[in-house]
This record gives sequence, structure tokens and C-alpha cells, in this order.
Amino acid sequence: MTDPKISIVGAGLAGSLLSIYLAKRGFAVDLFEARSDMRIGEAARGRSINMALSDRGIAALREVGMDEYMLDHAIPMHGRLIHTPAGDTKLLPYSGRKGEYINSISRAGLNAALMTEAEKHDGVSFFFKEQCAAYDLSSSELEFASGKKARSSLVFAADGAGSALRQSLAKEVDGFASHSDFLEHGYKELVIPPGEGGKFLIEKNALHIWPRHKFMMIALPNLDGSFTCTLFLALKAAENSDEPSFEKLTDEAALTDFFAREFADALPLMPTLAEDFFSNPTGTLGTVDCSPWHADGRVLLLGDAAHAMVPFYGQGMNCAFEDVRTLDGLIETHGSEWSSIFEAFEQERKPNAAAIQTMAIENFYEMRDKVADPVFQRKRELETRLEQTYEDYFSKYSMVTFREDLPYAEARRRGNLQDELLMRLCSEAGEGHTVDAATAIELVRSL
Ligand SMILES: Cc1cc2nc3c(=O)[nH]c(=O)nc-3n(C[C@H](O)[C@H](O)[C@H](O)COP(=O)(O)OP(=O)(O)OC[C@H]3O[C@@H](n4cnc5c(N)ncnc54)[C@H](O)[C@@H]3O)c2cc1C
Repeated sequence: MTDPKISIVGAGLAGSLLSIYLAKRGFAVDLFEARSDMRIGEAARGRSINMALSDRGIAALREVGMDEYMLDHAIPMHGRLIHTPAGDTKLLPYSGRKGEYINSISRAGLNAALMTEAEKHDGVSFFFKEQCAAYDLSSSELEFASGKKARSSLVFAADGAGSALRQSLAKEVDGFASHSDFLEHGYKELVIPPGEGGKFLIEKNALHIWPRHKFMMIALPNLDGSFTCTLFLALKAAENSDEPSFEKLTDEAALTDFFAREFADALPLMPTLAEDFFSNPTGTLGTVDCSPWHADGRVLLLGDAAHAMVPFYGQGMNCAFEDVRTLDGLIETHGSEWSSIFEAFEQERKPNAAAIQTMAIENFYEMRDKVADPVFQRKRELETRLEQTYEDYFSKYSMVTFREDLPYAEARRRGNLQDELLMRLCSEAGEGHTVDAATAIELVRSL
């Protein structure tokens, strides 16, 4: 049996990385991408400009020799820097161990680098401005919005959260179930530009958070000295409520008033606030659950197409990259037995994707509410001490973010047990009292 020519729908982060892995195994790959080539035109608006790359994603990049190159183009973020309403700041480190941090990286820069790397391999071809509309399982044809068709007996659907191929499978495959759950909150990207000479106007090596309970703003650094801020806010306020919402911020006066009240330290650093706010799109945030992820040994959904998640754990891309790495491991084991590969892939990845999807939603509440809670802050301080002192202690955040050897589902299971215990200890100890690390680690170990 000769190996089929493979088609990948979507040359985003997962699709482009997958093409490199497949090319390294000697497969010929066609990539069909709806947008134009981002290396030539301007990056599309509406997706995050920068994102947090961490160990699971780095592990996948390492296997294709791109980790060092990408980390050279990233800014380390050592912790969450909390901005209180009064303008005070406090750093909550991500880990007590040296060398455990996350990296702010440009989405477009990473995507473009992956495409350029893929093109170095013979047999990889990109077809831009080709929006796939469906895959016809009976004729093995991909159908495009342009009316074009392409025959392909092996298709990887990496076409993101709104996947057309997922919708196509929903129509074609008996028993296919798909459900998307949207948050009531949306997001908007804003900018803190660099100071004179490219100076960073707030701490460079941190992920900034302005937690305000029902909403929050975050900011990640860019190489040019600017920060991309993301405001997460209810799309609509509940009836008869005076809560802020995107719906209510309809003019510059209301917007400036809102920022002056809630983000007073950031406002003077955002000279283009109104322009950015009223011209940038408001994005929605959803979780996609579907099953099965494959059909007929010929199509496989992966990345956001299979399991889009809300962005609050900074893991969507990292998880999509881990998908690709897992898939490659299964090809190593099963050769070209695609049905077995797809079956094993879904079995291994689905519980882990579900775990990180749930943790991502939970982290939304942690970031906007809990990080401002003194008990939670004491617990994070205790966890930092535990990580500094005991080699075997990893917080849930560390297990998810820095332990590529631990599946997400296991990180969640262990992390939840620990969290419950440590929150109880810190709450019982009360303000101003330090929980003894030796006692805490013994209790954690006994879990
Ligand atoms: C605001 C925000 C912040 C985020 N921050 C982080 C973060 O810090 N860390 C992290 O790990 N993750 C983050 N994520 C999640 C991350 O963006 C996604 O998980 C990741 O992009 C998934 O990669 P993908 O290749 O599956 O999908 P995408 O990157 O969305 O790529 C899909 C590609 O398919 C193309 N396409 C779509 N439809 C078609 C079609 N019909 N035909 C052909 N092509 C098509 C698209 O143009 C795109 O190029 C964030 C997401 C958001 C929204």
C-alpha cells in the first residue's frame, strides 16, 4: 500500500506544526488555509496577538528543532503581577523553582516560523485563500467555498474552533455529537505602547492582571516594548444590574470613565484606548466538545477543531501542540494503520483535553476573583515555599504548565486534592500566620 497524500485543513498553529512532523516522516502534505499568507499581508485582527508558550508546547517544538529559535523570540514571564484597584502591585510567582516560567510569544511570528520551516521540506505545499466547506466521505473530496474540489483519502482537520470539517462530519457521520458552550464574557484587545526608546512601561517579565471580580484585564509583553492588554468583560449585563458590560461601553466618555474607575494605573499608559476599543472586534470565548474525533480512518479532528477551550490557562496552543506530538508517537507505533492511530489518539487525548478545558474555565474564576483573595494569596506563597524546599512538590499550575510528562487529567486530579488541603490550612491559620511547610508537605504526601 502506498502512503496517501495527506491534506491538512487549516495552516494555523497545529496544522503548520503537524505538516513538519509528517514531512519528517516522509509524507507529502497539502495544506489548505482560508486566509492569505500571513507572511505577506497584515496579520488578521481578532485573535490574540501574543500568547503564553509553556513546556508542553516547547516539548513539541523541540522535536522539530524549533524550541530554541522560538524561545529566542519570546519574553519570559515569571509570575502574575496583580494590580489592585488602588494601583498597588504584587508579584505571585508561577513557581518556586528556578527556570519554571512561561513565555510571551507572538502568535503571528510563531505561525509564520512554522510555515517557513514546513516549506523547507520537499512535498509540503501551502494553498492559501482556500476555505474548505466540507469533506465528502463517499467521494473522498474536500470541497472549497470557491467551488474547487480536491481528492484526498487522508485529512487532518486543524481548522480551529469554528471548524467547517467538524460541521461537515456532524452532517455525514451517524451519531456524531458536537456542542459549543460560550461564556457570557467576551474579550477585546488593547495596547500599552512602548515608552521612549522601546522602554517597557510596566514590569517586562510578568503577566499582568487587574482582577476585578466580575471582569478583568490582563497584559502580556511584546518584544518591541509594548504590551497587548486583553479586557475580559460580560457581553451584556444582567437585567436591572449596574454591572459593566461591553454593551454599555458605547462611547468614549463611558469607556474613559470605566477605565479611570477600574484600571486607573493603566489608563495613562493607553493613549490609543478609545481608538483600539472601538475598532478592534469583541471576541467570544467558548468550549467545544465533540465526538468522535475521527471518521472512517480518513479524517481526524485535532487542536481547537476537536477541543477548543477558553484561554485562561494559556494552554489551547500548548494542548494542540501536544496533540501533534502524541499523534506522531502513535504513527511511530502503528505505522500507516490510520484507523488504529485515530482510535488510540482519541482515547488518549479526549480525557486530557476535557481536563484542561475544565481547568481553563476554573482558572477564569481564579484569575478574576481568587487572585485578589488574601487566603488564596497566602496559599500561593505557601506553594512557592514548598516548591523552593521540596523537589517532589508541584502546584496544580506547575503540573499543568511545567510537567510535560504528566497528562492533564492527572495534573487536575492531584492538583484538586492539594488545593483543597492547602486552602484549608491557610484559611485555618488566619491572616499574619505562616503555615509550617514541613507540616504541609507531610499532609500533601499523605494524599
Ligand atoms: C484571546 C485568546 C488568547 C489565547 N491565549 C493563549 C495562550 O496564551 N496560550 C495558549 O496555549 N493558547 C492560547 N489561546 C488558544 C490558542 O489560540 C488556540 O488553542 C490555538 O490557536 C489552536 O490552534 P489550532 O491550529 O487548532 O487553531 P487555529 O490557530 O485557530 O488555526 C486554525 C487555522 O485554520 C484556518 N481555517 C479556519 N477555517 C478554515 C476553513 N474552513 N478552511 C481552511 N482553513 C480554515 C484559520 O484561518 C487558521 O489559520 C488563546 C486563544 C484566544 C482566543
